[in-house]
Amino acid sequence: MSQSTIPRLPEVDDFLSRASGSFIDGEHIPGSGRHAEVFDPSSATPLTHLGLADKAIVDRAVAVAKQRFVEGAWRGMTPAQRERILLRFADLLELRGEELAQLESLNQGKSINIARMIDVGFSVDFMRYTAGWTTKLEGQTTDVSIGVPDGTNFHAYTLRQPVGVVAGIVPWNFPMMIALWKVIPALAAGCSIVIKPSTETPLSALRLAELAIEAGVPAGVFNVVVGAGSIAGQRLAEHPDIRKVTFTGSTAVGKQIGHAAVDHMACFSLELGGKNPMLVLADADLDKAVNGALMAGLLNQGQVCAAASRFYIHRSIHDAFCERLHAAIQGMRAGPGLDPEATVNPLVSHRHQRSVLAHIERAEAEGARVLRGAEVPETGFYVSPVVLSGVTQQMTVAREEVFGPVLSVIPFDEVEEGLAMVNDSDLGLAASLWTNDLSQAMRLIPRIEAGTVWVNTHVTLDASLPFGGVKQSGVGREFGREAVEACTELKSVCIAY
Ligand code: NAP
Ligand code: MG
Repeated sequence: MSQSTIPRLPEVDDFLSRASGSFIDGEHIPGSGRHAEVFDPSSATPLTHLGLADKAIVDRAVAVAKQRFVEGAWRGMTPAQRERILLRFADLLELRGEELAQLESLNQGKSINIARMIDVGFSVDFMRYTAGWTTKLEGQTTDVSIGVPDGTNFHAYTLRQPVGVVAGIVPWNFPMMIALWKVIPALAAGCSIVIKPSTETPLSALRLAELAIEAGVPAGVFNVVVGAGSIAGQRLAEHPDIRKVTFTGSTAVGKQIGHAAVDHMACFSLELGGKNPMLVLADADLDKAVNGALMAGLLNQGQVCAAASRFYIHRSIHDAFCERLHAAIQGMRAGPGLDPEATVNPLVSHRHQRSVLAHIERAEAEGARVLRGAEVPETGFYVSPVVLSGVTQQMTVAREEVFGPVLSVIPFDEVEEGLAMVNDSDLGLAASLWTNDLSQAMRLIPRIEAGTVWVNTHVTLDASLPFGGVKQSGVGREFGREAVEACTELKSVCIAY
């Protein structure tokens, strides 16, 4: 077990004493009377508690966001002014990076290294890339063929306009980064936004809303409501003044949100996780595949929507692959996120810890062999990583998203058999293929049913590369130009002269 945690920055405690509930129109506001405890998963003790928003508080946040939109407080600025403010927002996140990384590590449980590199580092890159689209959105002119009345000329063009108020409902695995995946495209398009973080990890979104104001985003353009999904989340999804809902989380909740959005004809995009396969062919570089599997499967303790959890390994290398994965997880060391040497960190919550442990027990009961990893402390929401061998395609663990450090390994003999198992899933977020046979790779890539296909890499995202799922993994794409355009409506204009 580890001991050496880094010292907590005073700014983290300052923020904890400031936050009281939601953040609306530039102010922290307490909730409606009900509170939620916000935990440190490494010690299973509360960091703070926040007042929860009820429907009336959500309605207030939406009303403010709408008012700012109608007044043009944000969309009325020139694109260049808005771009500059978003770039300043990115600079501020970079400047306060250590504070935000500590806050995220403390509340989510993740390693400070991951928090620095991904939650902060990738977020800053994402913000800068996406801010650039602010000045690059465009419509087009079209040569129409309208022939009447005789002698009339026409000029026609399309205009991209912000949809209005966007709602972003986000999960607990990368709370700040996924909030930014909603916030920045919406702001780049000129929209206002209300974010509802998970009640388990609401802190970093509140801090972001403060930083946005410091950067120059007018108060009320970016609001945060902290409240239960079934109350605050549902109210946001069904609110008549919300013109777009963007959600990341479970398929079951995503469907409810999609239905609620359609009921008032709001646009929606849903990113719903996956049961992502890694297909390792006989010729693959075993070292790279093993390291890739550890990264793909155990990053953030497997609490990653694009994490690999089904490992289809050619029979000729299957046993060596399992042995090496097992040795690697035995050599890891458990500890809190603020210990930079700890490689096994707690899961986000007691509820989620129980859910992952139940998946492991069920897999064992269904016949999988459990190869266990490092010892973990009794206190805190830890789950030791496991490799499951002898898994079959019919077992629950091969079909349902576990969202934890559980690597299921399944051998195959023929490439076609491996491909069929890869595609035998309701979900289709991402997949990776491991081979050095270029012709084989080029033939397989179009046949893999997933929104992203990686070759000899897994879980590597870039702000310019659209990200989203097929099948039950959702609809719509985040990142790239697509994410910003998805916060706009196209208006057709036709002028007779
Ligand atoms: P979830 O229930 O889908 O929660 C995601 C967000 O939706 C949270 O902010 C949640 O609020 C909110 N929410 C819940 N019910 C809602 C409703 N009826 N209307 C509107 N919003 C609602 O996810 P979870 O329960 O935390 O995790 C369950 C499983 O989802 C995980 O085990 C994992 O398999 C999957 N998951 C996927 C991702 C991903 O990145 N795609 C991320 C997280 C989880 P509150 O929780 O605050 O009430
Ligand atoms: Mg839930």
